[in-house]
Amino acid sequence: MAKQMVDQLVLQHKKVFVRADLNVPLKDGKISDDNRIVQACPTLKYLISKQARVIVLSHLGKVKHSDPIKAAEQMKKNDLAVVAVRLSELLGKKVTFVSATRGAELEQAITALKDGDVLLMQNTRYEVGEEKNSEELGTYWASLCDIYVNDAFGSCHRAHASTYSLPMACKKANKPTAIGYLVEKEIASLSRCVEAKEHPYIAVMGGSKVSDKIKVIEGLLKKADKILIGGAMAFTFMKALGKEVGKSLVELDQVDFAKRCLIEGKGRICLPLDYIMADSLSEPSREEVSKNQNVAIDMMGLDVGPKTNEFYKEELTGAKIVFWNGPLGAFENPLFANGTKSICEAIVNLKNCFSVIGGGDSASAVAQYGYSSRFSHVSTGGGASLEMIENDGHLPGIDVIEEAK
Ligand code: ADP
Ligand code: MG
Repeated sequence: MAKQMVDQLVLQHKKVFVRADLNVPLKDGKISDDNRIVQACPTLKYLISKQARVIVLSHLGKVKHSDPIKAAEQMKKNDLAVVAVRLSELLGKKVTFVSATRGAELEQAITALKDGDVLLMQNTRYEVGEEKNSEELGTYWASLCDIYVNDAFGSCHRAHASTYSLPMACKKANKPTAIGYLVEKEIASLSRCVEAKEHPYIAVMGGSKVSDKIKVIEGLLKKADKILIGGAMAFTFMKALGKEVGKSLVELDQVDFAKRCLIEGKGRICLPLDYIMADSLSEPSREEVSKNQNVAIDMMGLDVGPKTNEFYKEELTGAKIVFWNGPLGAFENPLFANGTKSICEAIVNLKNCFSVIGGGDSASAVAQYGYSSRFSHVSTGGGASLEMIENDGHLPGIDVIEEAK
């Protein structure tokens, strides 16, 4: 069953709460990448065109309420006011910013909205109850709106007050709940990776830690024909095979998991054949290509090597679905970016292949190389896309939304 969509509702005169994911990266108080705001615009523009009264909710950064001094600093740093300015530019209309998450100021501003107006509420994480999924907070916010729309794909794996208690409270009060265009697009693309009906299905997994990705590796073992492993996580698998890993990043407590994967995925888990090694990640003074799968004892493996690039390119030939998470090397340094760039080029040159990236760092690597538009889908939610695969298509923030009638 499909979820109810924003365009299936009567919207005119209605106060619509839209949970968007406007959690953009900030550098010295300025937005360094506005992609998430851009991606939120189609649903907001639709609501404006239908004369709804739009109230946008989002979190920004982290606020650790258990430490009041730190929380005050983080609240100052993660003030959504700067996002309101950019949102207004992108929508081409005024966005009223309310620096409160509850109370008279917010309530009056909502009451003052006219059809087609847009208001952005302060960072939802200013509220202690947001991350605690507080029912009180969700019920309060629900009392301020007529309709709830979730378009915050990057936050759908978290059951927080703005993604879970709030739509729950709306449903209890017989107020409609729906998903927006971004969530719809993400579900449509990621469902193909979850359903795994097209084959060969090749997964590419990299990044720093196996422990972050155990569940998704287990999920992919059930769906994909092959999993190509790279990044630092490869060394935990190498350790499981008894290879020399030198000073590479290894998670010793995950070696047993890696052994089990290698047994369960016999012949389907592909590991690097060689590496680019260096004496240090932060200040490399000496690099070398390894001759085989062993890393020199005084060096670290920081990227996959040229034989691996060729091997993985061959393994990708003919793929109908590719799901990629995690860079294959420490790509932030151009010395260790070849593996990531090479796999990226191999994927975008595949014919008739549905290619998906789920992962913040992988997505930023691909954007840096100018290849984003050549992927079928670049997910806006790293964690959410992985959890969707792990949980067979289920995420709390989506499950809670009512089905289409
Ligand atoms: P994503 O955000 O795409 O899910 P991760 O966050 O799991 O990816 O991992 C990205 C990080 O992994 C990058 O910062 C990259 O430098 C690091 N990384 C990849 N390969 C290595 C390696 N061999 N050694 C150290 N760090 C690595
Ligand atoms: Mg990351």
